[in-house]
Amino acid sequence: MPNAINIYFSDTLKMKACGYAYLGYKKNRIFVSPQCITNTLTHEMGHYFNLYHTFELSFGSELVNGSNCINAGDLVCDTPADPYLPISFYRLDSSCSYKNITQDSLGLEYHPLTNNLMSYYNSSKRSCINSFTNGQYSRMLSNLYLNKWTYFCEVPTATLQNSSTNIELFPNPITERCILKFDSKSNLETKADIQIINSKGQNIYENSLFIPGQKEFDLTSLSRGIYLVIINTKQEILRKKIVLQ
Ligand SMILES: [Zn+2]
Repeated sequence: MPNAINIYFSDTLKMKACGYAYLGYKKNRIFVSPQCITNTLTHEMGHYFNLYHTFELSFGSELVNGSNCINAGDLVCDTPADPYLPISFYRLDSSCSYKNITQDSLGLEYHPLTNNLMSYYNSSKRSCINSFTNGQYSRMLSNLYLNKWTYFCEVPTATLQNSSTNIELFPNPITERCILKFDSKSNLETKADIQIINSKGQNIYENSLFIPGQKEFDLTSLSRGIYLVIINTKQEILRKKIVLQ
């Protein structure tokens, strides 16, 4: 079915896998084996919204000190380096603590998040995984808003209906500078948190400002592409897509 996430439950997945999803927005289907533990679907949803495993190696091995976290491992900086170990689950003690002391190439001991949904710290009988990090949420959110437009009944760049805040962002597309202007229907001055994230979900700007008001951004240091501006006024969260040309 188009414009939907199609989830298939099948007993006959290849290689006895628990689940399968296409990374990012390439294909809108997920396969899950009903015999696997319940968080398999959440894990596959993570892949579907562009998350890699915490032990991903295709971009190079993430260092424990986090110095290469932007370009290596799972490309998310608040998930600590996770060593790839077959049957990761058996490296945990009964309270889900990591017990197998291994070191990265600089000799630092790994302390992976053993509760992370994109790790492999689970088995067919027991699971330690139950959460995503804020960085993973940001990466998923940017994937959803920047790539999966068809899932929304209305284009999410528009100001929310019944919103007390109007946002204008101009020019859009942007060449080097843009102005973010807030109008509020109420006269009360409100503090809003503003965040700009890139298409990988990485936070490239974070600050707070007062609305009504306006803020000018110098974006000359950023590479061309699509960015997501998130404005949190505490009463509501507004999202706007900007294109840097
Ligand atoms: Zn996976």
